[in-house]
Amino acid sequence: MSRRKTRPRTSPARPAEPAVTAESPCPCGLDAAYGACCGRFHTGTGGSAPTAELLMRSRYSAFVVRDEAYLLRSWAPETRPGEVDFDPGMRWTGLEIEAATDGTAFHQHGTVTFTARYVHGGEPGALHERSRFARHEGAWVYVDGDVGE
Ligand SMILES: [Zn+2]
Repeated sequence: MSRRKTRPRTSPARPAEPAVTAESPCPCGLDAAYGACCGRFHTGTGGSAPTAELLMRSRYSAFVVRDEAYLLRSWAPETRPGEVDFDPGMRWTGLEIEAATDGTAFHQHGTVTFTARYVHGGEPGALHERSRFARHEGAWVYVDGDVGE
């Protein structure tokens, strides 16, 4: 295999956004660094999220860091899309978990109600959803959700 000459890297046209590193505060809002929080689930070094709430948090963070592979593998096979379209104009700015039912080590199902805040094209907005989670081969996966307000 021969190496092609790579073109000099010009900085790609991306919105000025600080990249999330392992040391960054985790986007999910827990008081932990990304690498020790949702990042360990994204890389798999932390196994899979032990509760539906932690899975929800890790999926929110995956939208922030645009980790499509993680989003797809933490999606129930019945509802999993072929790919995840990340809207380049969308910047997620915060997550609040409002309620969680079941979804622990003792359950097969769980729900998490949350508000995810964003700025889209300069306009702030919020997504309010009650998400359903289930276990698939032992690991929590996202099934679907009811979007409200
Ligand atoms: Zn996190």
